[in-house]
Amino acid sequence: MPQQRTVAIIGAGLAGASAALAFVNAGFAVTLYSDKSRQALRDEAPATGTAIYFGQISQDADAHIIENLYGDDYYIDGFSVRAYNADHTPLLAFDTDYHYYRAQAIDVRLRTDDRLARFIEKGGDLRVQAVPPDTLNAIAASHDLTLVATGKKGLGSLFEVDQERTVYTEPQRHLLTVNVTGLAYDRSTFDYRSEVGWKHNLFTTHATQGEIFTGPLLHKDGIPSWVILGFAKPGSDWQQRFSQAHDSASALAIFKKIFYDYFPEDCAEINQLQTIDSDPYTWLKGAVVPTVHKPVGYTHGGHTIAALGDTAISFDPIAGQGAQNISVQVAALVDAAKAHQGAFDANWITQQFDTHWQRHGHGATEVTRLFLGDAKYADHAGLFFPAAAVEPAKAGAAFFRFLSEPSLLLSQPTKEDSAQYIETATGQTIESLLARFAPASRFTTKEAA
Ligand SMILES: Cc1cc2nc3c(=O)[nH]c(=O)nc-3n(C[C@H](O)[C@H](O)[C@H](O)COP(=O)(O)OP(=O)(O)OC[C@H]3O[C@@H](n4cnc5c(N)ncnc54)[C@H](O)[C@@H]3O)c2cc1C
Repeated sequence: MPQQRTVAIIGAGLAGASAALAFVNAGFAVTLYSDKSRQALRDEAPATGTAIYFGQISQDADAHIIENLYGDDYYIDGFSVRAYNADHTPLLAFDTDYHYYRAQAIDVRLRTDDRLARFIEKGGDLRVQAVPPDTLNAIAASHDLTLVATGKKGLGSLFEVDQERTVYTEPQRHLLTVNVTGLAYDRSTFDYRSEVGWKHNLFTTHATQGEIFTGPLLHKDGIPSWVILGFAKPGSDWQQRFSQAHDSASALAIFKKIFYDYFPEDCAEINQLQTIDSDPYTWLKGAVVPTVHKPVGYTHGGHTIAALGDTAISFDPIAGQGAQNISVQVAALVDAAKAHQGAFDANWITQQFDTHWQRHGHGATEVTRLFLGDAKYADHAGLFFPAAAVEPAKAGAAFFRFLSEPSLLLSQPTKEDSAQYIETATGQTIESLLARFAPASRFTTKEAA
């Protein structure tokens, strides 16, 4: 009987827990090292991010790792978008269903904990210990494959930045997020923005300040909650305000004041939101420098290690790509490892990552640039937004399709390519769509009961 192959994984966030379970399912002997206990990961730490799976690709990949444990109640069907000018006046709005499979918003701490439970049940070895570089050297020496999934910090510095694939050297947004409750999952919630109410996420943008995402999210303790996630442009008033947050209550108060000052039409609903007092960890502030690392690193003793999840690619979360990228990367890596008979050496690891980059990772980083308003895609965005305002069901859905199938953007290097994509989606010429666009004069608000 062939000897069971061994995998060591460092870090038990979504990437480490997903890979640990998938490798055990594939017949490997897996040891997962975590600097926090299972209970601390779930109950004594903030979620790394919102981690919504926006589409079919990530959800299909995730189904290779674990079945959907959360039923059909937490699916979101589309987006309500409102854009404001620098002087706070309305620019445009549209409300669209996704054209694809729905988005699923589950607290990443719950997703991770469920994977850890299954991993242990299937005989996986979870060791609660922080892994410093010396220990990593010994671990890598004694396993066939060692994966580092320690997130954006941790052991990530052992992987060189890939300068060719990395676009930014500074954060493009400053982030503040808080998980809250107080609004029902009901058709009447946000019904002035979408007739399906809570079933559409809200994306509200301001020309000079940034963007605010608002949407339902199943909290780890089963609370049907909401996430507010703010993206402040560097140097903006919002950035200054975000910096004052020090707990859930202050984060929520900052958002309520921002809505009051910038998006008053949403105040009646936003003001009803309340903190989740049973979970003081459910807020986060910070900033990400979007970075792609080389997939192979070496311990000081020269043993090969591979980067996974945020350790491999860290995304600004504006286009919701990080967790989705993890499902896709893990599912493909485990399939390839199962089929591979030789050593998991630097060549093999590089080949797997290059394949992943071409199929998914590159597209995901480019879609993030599109949503960040990167100069490379400014002309594309100048077509998508007015076209979506005129034809929300088709052009709006075509725009949000990128969250689900990011590689589609790779075939649109020029604005003419995007024009053609919009024309195909709508059956209308781009000229006729743009000619019909008129800026919004006012936005609706909640009718008084
Ligand atoms: C605000 C925000 C919103 C987001 N929204 C979305 C979204 O809507 N959709 C989406 O797809 N993605 C989203 N993301 C991205 C997603 O949340 C992340 O990509 C994902 O959670 C990262 O998981 P990870 O396992 O790679 O890293 P982490 O969650 O950071 O896990 C790393 C783990 O390793 C442990 N560790 C570190 N060092 C060591 C060590 N030396 N030894 C042992 N353990 C160690 C850490 O304690 C941690 O538990 C968002 C991110 C943010 C910040």
